[in-house]
Amino acid sequence: MDYEARFEQAVASVRDEGRYRVFANLERIAGRFPHAINHGAGKRDVVVWCSNDYLGQSQNPLVVEAGVKALQVMGAGSGGTRNISGTHRLHGELEAELADLHGKEAALVFTSGYVSNSATLSTLGKILPDALIFTDELNHASMIEGIRFSRCEKRIFRHNDLEHLETLLKYAEPERPKIIAFESVYSMDGDIAPIAAICDLADKYGAMTYLDEVHAVGLYGLRGGGISERDGVAGRLTVIEGTLAKAFGCMGGYIAGSSALVDAIRSHASGFIFTSSQPPATMAAALASVRYLKAHHELRIKHQERAAELKKRLARAGLPVMESETHIVPLLVGCPVKAKQVTDMLMEEHGIYVQPINFPTVPRGTERLRLTPTPFHDDCLMDDFMKAIVDVWRKIGLDREYRQAA
Ligand SMILES: *Cc1c(COP(=O)(O)O)cnc(C)c1O
Repeated sequence: MDYEARFEQAVASVRDEGRYRVFANLERIAGRFPHAINHGAGKRDVVVWCSNDYLGQSQNPLVVEAGVKALQVMGAGSGGTRNISGTHRLHGELEAELADLHGKEAALVFTSGYVSNSATLSTLGKILPDALIFTDELNHASMIEGIRFSRCEKRIFRHNDLEHLETLLKYAEPERPKIIAFESVYSMDGDIAPIAAICDLADKYGAMTYLDEVHAVGLYGLRGGGISERDGVAGRLTVIEGTLAKAFGCMGGYIAGSSALVDAIRSHASGFIFTSSQPPATMAAALASVRYLKAHHELRIKHQERAAELKKRLARAGLPVMESETHIVPLLVGCPVKAKQVTDMLMEEHGIYVQPINFPTVPRGTERLRLTPTPFHDDCLMDDFMKAIVDVWRKIGLDREYRQAA
């Protein structure tokens, strides 16, 4: 067996479709957000337009200082799993802060948002082995993996389609446990789930709810509790899941829920039990970031204003900006090869970094640029971006009529 040839073949198929992924080799510069050095392009200064560090919190001096201090005072590693010497004061403080953020009794921190979804959903399936899981068709890969590992029966409902969800619920055996798993902000289209209406259905059919708020925590609600806070429905959800790695600018994931639920996951989830806990520096930085964003709603207002401004400018220039209710600004290209051409040219000719988004992250034919302006993308940077994108669009000969046609 020629193993190497098999590995090369596996890559060739991706390359043939024009969706071979090349890392942008960046060096971020604390204090100069959203600028970075691109080591792949002769060490050039670039402006990043596709980061999930939505509010620049990774470089907030208070967050950095909290991390540095913890590193110096408590050392680099945590020293173990949460159960064997790896729980320290900061884990408890952060979990209390997160529980409070979502108005829940308890919270539990994981090594990433991915792991928190996969571990929690799979463990719920073990605790409720005859459960039926209702899952939105656009749910994130980490939820899909958790549902698969749960070995529960699942029903996929059409994206944000309440009627379809209700039909599926109606045909389910009334006595079976039911879990509805969905996201608040869908990260590639920037649309929002009808959380209250989904909770109504959950009440009507006796289901529990699992909401991924990864792209909303820190960003929506008066204290950054997400769309569930904004809509006043956090109390109706069984589980709220979030990340510390996007708006909070650090690393890690978590769930928040009742004490009994969190205790059950803590006691049974292998993805929680059998891995070393997060180190003090990360926990201290995350704690500082959550506290900061609870108290600084003006950053969220600025963030929304910047996103609205970019959408307005793209539309005014006749570019195919996709409809989005959130801070995420998707710009349709519709072809993986051209999407890569656009982003290569933006980088090479304009020092602007945007990553093309291809299948399987989005359906084929809807390849796009996913722009995420932050409060630090000021008018000046936006002027530069608009000049560049209009120039590149024209040079590549892309359609500017899509918006009207769609
Ligand atoms: C990024 C993401 C995750 C995973 O979170 P990480 O902390 O990056 O592992 C989970 N759900 C959704 C919807 C995401 O986009």
